[in-house]
Amino acid sequence: MQFSKIINQQEVKQQLVELVQHNRLSHALLFLSKEGSGALSLAFALSQYITCERANPNSQTPNSNSLFGSELTTHDSQLTTQPDSCGICPSCLKAIQLMHPDIHFSYPVVTKKAGSPPLSVDYISEWREFIKLHPYGNVYDWLQFIGAENKQGNITANECNDIIRKLSLKSFESEYKVLIMWMPEYLGAEGNKLLKLIEEPPPNTLFILVAENEPLLLPTIVSRCQMIKIPALETSDIEKALIERNNTDPVKARQVAATAEGNYREALQLLQHAEED
Ligand SMILES: [Zn+2]
Repeated sequence: MQFSKIINQQEVKQQLVELVQHNRLSHALLFLSKEGSGALSLAFALSQYITCERANPNSQTPNSNSLFGSELTTHDSQLTTQPDSCGICPSCLKAIQLMHPDIHFSYPVVTKKAGSPPLSVDYISEWREFIKLHPYGNVYDWLQFIGAENKQGNITANECNDIIRKLSLKSFESEYKVLIMWMPEYLGAEGNKLLKLIEEPPPNTLFILVAENEPLLLPTIVSRCQMIKIPALETSDIEKALIERNNTDPVKARQVAATAEGNYREALQLLQHAEED
């Protein structure tokens, strides 16, 4: 996903790009926001930006025209001066489909088969589909999407071991490896397995944790991360996004945006309920 595809959050986008450009990116970032603000999309966009063969001047991918990368991206997106991934190089194409071999994902899942602790990757095709359909969805939407019903989602000890294994491998195509963990609230005490990795990650490894509820996170993890607070969207952003992305009637969009409290997911839900009535 490119930064340009995300509803507003201009300041956060700028902050992230500057951290990359000035080599001030920490190895572990914690994106903290309320639901419906686009935090997960920002994590996708950042991972795509740092693996893009054109946008990232540090990229060592062969054939990348990296010196001229930022010029190219400026031309590609004339509407904004926001630096962005190019969206068309082989690396971007894979990142957009959530199929880049160096961008890994962890998220809460439920047991598929009794007796075998689940891994996030067991649900990777559902994950890709979910993100395409509901980029602003929350964890409830996700668990419904995978048919969890009333089962509690988890990021298991098994998953933590898998993360440790994956990140110990050399990267496949990009100079960087990224792990995006959505809803680390679901880690529980298992998360302590990851402390060493977060504190001393292998070279060129970036962790992005995307969370909504700080008190539910392990303090030992929070203290090891650079926190990026992502604000709720403005009412005007929601109104505009409903009209442009969802073809909502402008009068309806204004009404819904006024009660959605900066939460784009909530705005879509309100619309859906209004239609059902
Ligand atoms: Zn690219």
